[in-house]
Amino acid sequence: MGFFRRLLGGDKRRISDIPDELWAQALDEHPIVRALSAQQLSLLRIRTGEVLSRISIDTARGVDRSEELRLSVALQAALPVLELGVEWYRAVRTILLVPDEYETELTTVDEAGVVHEGVDTISGEMGHQQPVVLSVADVEASGWGEGYNVVIHEMAHVIDAADGEADGAPPLPPGMDSGHWGAVFAAARSDHERRVRRTEARIASRSGRAAGRAPVLDPYAAEGREEFFACSVELFFERPRRLKRAYPELFEELRSFFGIDPSGLSGE
Ligand SMILES: [Zn+2]
Repeated sequence: MGFFRRLLGGDKRRISDIPDELWAQALDEHPIVRALSAQQLSLLRIRTGEVLSRISIDTARGVDRSEELRLSVALQAALPVLELGVEWYRAVRTILLVPDEYETELTTVDEAGVVHEGVDTISGEMGHQQPVVLSVADVEASGWGEGYNVVIHEMAHVIDAADGEADGAPPLPPGMDSGHWGAVFAAARSDHERRVRRTEARIASRSGRAAGRAPVLDPYAAEGREEFFACSVELFFERPRRLKRAYPELFEELRSFFGIDPSGLSGE
């Protein structure tokens, strides 16, 4: 029986229940938290323990059920709610880890009303009242400060949907203006869409010449307001200075919302 089981047993001594050695190793393997202050790291350890006690991190068949992996998921999920608190994840009971990018059956209806059934490969997904599903390969690629983080991306969707609507606008704390938030995100999103279109046109024309600046965010962020928010949060924690340079106002909104400034913390 591992220490996670003891956590689920209602033991309140959460902090001491993550063994020092395992915790130190986890911090080492997640450069995105490397420069947190000692105080923030203590808080992160508490939050990580809270995530582990509240959310069941299960593994699908074929996944090595290692404590390190579950700790990695909990730690990365804890980072966005370091100051906000884990209540933001109250809609999530289970995070399911699957071996690799997995296939999901998709049924879509197009504008003409035609039903398409197909299989799409995705790396993570947040379904309403369903487990958050993450691929192990993607979890392992996250947290290195390289811009990619499937855990933070999916948990950003959870935060976004805390008011019942995944629309790129989470419920804001007092003192933040939703009108300003909306305007800042809309402006950044249209800039991003422009960059994506230009890049696509350049690739299509096989012209080597750069027309405008390349997208800073994952092109997938252009899929909709909710994806733009999730990808922004992902970059905010993974490559904060990059996001700050490209979209300073958006960075400022996220900094106010999360109550953290990763740009002064990350080893980027
Ligand atoms: Zn997404």
